[in-house]
Amino acid sequence: MTTLLFLRCVTCGARYAEGEANVCPACGTDKGILDAEYDLPRAAAALTREAIARRPLSIWRYRELLPLPEGAPALPADTGWTPLLDAPRLAAALEVGRVRIKDDTRMASASFKDRASAIAVSRALAEGAREIACASTGNAASSLARCAAVAGLRANIFVPAAIPEGKLAQLLIYGARVFKVEARYDIAWRLCMDACERFGWYNRNCAVNPYLVEGKKTGGLEVAEQCAGDPPGWVAVSVGDGCTVAGIGKGLREARETGLVSWRARLLAVQAAGAAPLAQAFEAGAENFDVVAAEGEAARWSGTFADSINCPAPRNGAKALRAVRESGGHFVTVSDEEIREAARRLGRLTGVFAEPAGAAALAGVAAARRAGILGADADVVVFATGHGLKDLPGALRAAPAPHVIPPRLDAVAQILATTPPPGNF
Ligand SMILES: *Cc1c(COP(=O)(O)O)cnc(C)c1O
Ligand SMILES: [Zn+2]
Repeated sequence: MTTLLFLRCVTCGARYAEGEANVCPACGTDKGILDAEYDLPRAAAALTREAIARRPLSIWRYRELLPLPEGAPALPADTGWTPLLDAPRLAAALEVGRVRIKDDTRMASASFKDRASAIAVSRALAEGAREIACASTGNAASSLARCAAVAGLRANIFVPAAIPEGKLAQLLIYGARVFKVEARYDIAWRLCMDACERFGWYNRNCAVNPYLVEGKKTGGLEVAEQCAGDPPGWVAVSVGDGCTVAGIGKGLREARETGLVSWRARLLAVQAAGAAPLAQAFEAGAENFDVVAAEGEAARWSGTFADSINCPAPRNGAKALRAVRESGGHFVTVSDEEIREAARRLGRLTGVFAEPAGAAALAGVAAARRAGILGADADVVVFATGHGLKDLPGALRAAPAPHVIPPRLDAVAQILATTPPPGNF
């Protein structure tokens, strides 16, 4: 049973009961993001290691810390509990002490976003909704479409014109109603907001739905449980809107506050250099983030090929800045070329195939090591947030070219003579 107490406005601190508001009416949609608070002592009493050891290997094992009303269905049942992979060759290449990959490419719709969409769909069902909607550059949408298909809800999806084909294919095959909006993401987002209001659809847009970050929190809870006796110093996450890093930070914190673990880890928040307003705000020491001002300056950013983090006007900026600062962590930025290199390394040295935004966190580890933020003994968990098959052109831009040869053994031998042996691989 949930131990949710109330929702608190991240700007003015006002409290709201569950169901009373989705954003703070006093602060408005752009600033009044709400944050769920739980009865942590009560959650701690139920969430002992022994008790959760007997529970299903999914996000639903943390039900006391999830915002599902009594009797709500918990769907899809197969969400979460992705593997944590030790990557010693990658650690050696990066010259850090240890790297573990939290492999969220293995989520059912192949991205981290399933964690949030599962909460959205379960709450929508509990509220009796028949239709659900979101605006997304891709993964929030494909995960919502998948979760809705499992739950028997209609998904309405607003995507920008530039969505990668793999993600679009997922939406259509999962049976969503897809609106491809001929405009930038932030404009598609506003249109979706209006449509939810007008047609009464359940809204799965992160900034206005305070429960989604609670799903993303399970990424942090799982890392905490998987590393319980063997803590990392850092957790690296790529950042677009900021909801993911804030959620993971909240999960790590609540794991500590409920006694699941006793350690704290720092957050390494990674933005693409072409869309890095939060990294810039962090460097400037900002406590808050003005999304409206950021929208006005959006054209200043050149953008990134990592579509899932191509967010010049992040909607969860304040939460993200706060989570990173509170953890004693850092923001770094990475170029598209560094992301491509990280994608190659991740594939070659760990067997994980990530989309560009999914490899960006790893690129951030390399950048942080070079900048001296991480030392030679750093122990890092790196989130791989989305699968590479979602964005084939992106992957092929990162990949080396194949060897084109005539069908002769000597041609193979000639290639072998000019490429490094496996030892240097
Ligand atoms: C959404 C997403 C992110 C970033 O999450 P935000 O909440 O937008 O910061 C990172 N990687 C992938 C693959 C994503 O889909
Ligand atoms: Zn407020």
